[in-house]
Amino acid sequence: MKHYQKIIEDIYVEVKNTDDSGKVANYIPELGTISPDNFGINITTIDKQSYGIGDYEKKFSIQSISKILTLTLAYQLEREKLWERVDVEPSGNPFNSLLQLEADFGKPRNPFINAGAIVICDVLISHLKNPKEDFIDFCREISNNPNLNYDDKIAKSEKSTGFRNIALCNFIKSFGNIKNDVDVVLDFYFYTCSIAMSCKELSTIFLFLADDNFITHKNNKILTESQAKRINAILLTCGFYDESGEFAFRVGLPGKSGVGGGIVAIHPDEYCITVWSPKLNTNGNSYKGMLFLEKFTTKTASSIF
Ligand code: GLN
Repeated sequence: MKHYQKIIEDIYVEVKNTDDSGKVANYIPELGTISPDNFGINITTIDKQSYGIGDYEKKFSIQSISKILTLTLAYQLEREKLWERVDVEPSGNPFNSLLQLEADFGKPRNPFINAGAIVICDVLISHLKNPKEDFIDFCREISNNPNLNYDDKIAKSEKSTGFRNIALCNFIKSFGNIKNDVDVVLDFYFYTCSIAMSCKELSTIFLFLADDNFITHKNNKILTESQAKRINAILLTCGFYDESGEFAFRVGLPGKSGVGGGIVAIHPDEYCITVWSPKLNTNGNSYKGMLFLEKFTTKTASSIF
């Protein structure tokens, strides 16, 4: 049994006092209002022991971390057919890049860049009767947490300035890889990004990727073992955009970041850990989040390698 509480407390103090060269995202105006000093960590083990420090119970905008949840539901619904619409290769480009899509004929490189997540949202809209309600219900079931919700203010803020995503969605539609109305797809995408969760809630909701025996309180298995393994593989290779190699190199866990400053990382068969610190490095990943996790997997000798 590792002494996780003491370990995260020690690293928390060390990293909190480190100079942070990052910047809070403000291309979504509402995100720019968040205090850069927020800093929280929570780890939940597969036997449901939970350890937290700092602002670990404060909700924040999970942004691209939601791409794991949209992918999970789409994978459950479409199974392997899903990969006809989106690939599983690292992009080596920023999260909101339009560059590669032209050469790839509108098939996004992976589901964790914006282009891929927008296609995944399109897939979900084709399947779900009430996409927003059905999707949040799915998140509530996985986490056994009825308090999860979208943040209307954040979603509307992104909608008013989401020009790149609007361009991406239209561009992909020109190749025929968006089947529904672009406004409907984008509205759903912006809402999925706006979901508010705390570090504690995040490290609980992703236990289904750490625990092979995971079932919900309604007795549903979310993914097969093989599907969960595959999502972890894509997280490891694509979860941090053009910094995925660096994250594997320094931290050594499958994980995902969001421009709200959150990072989740999964240790299959052991735990899920979340760090929140809003200042981002130039690749759009939380500066202190990566630093914390690097120290954490080093100290606990728990990279997957
Ligand atoms: N909603 C954000 C966007 O589309 C999500 C990006 C992110 O978290 N990396 O720009």
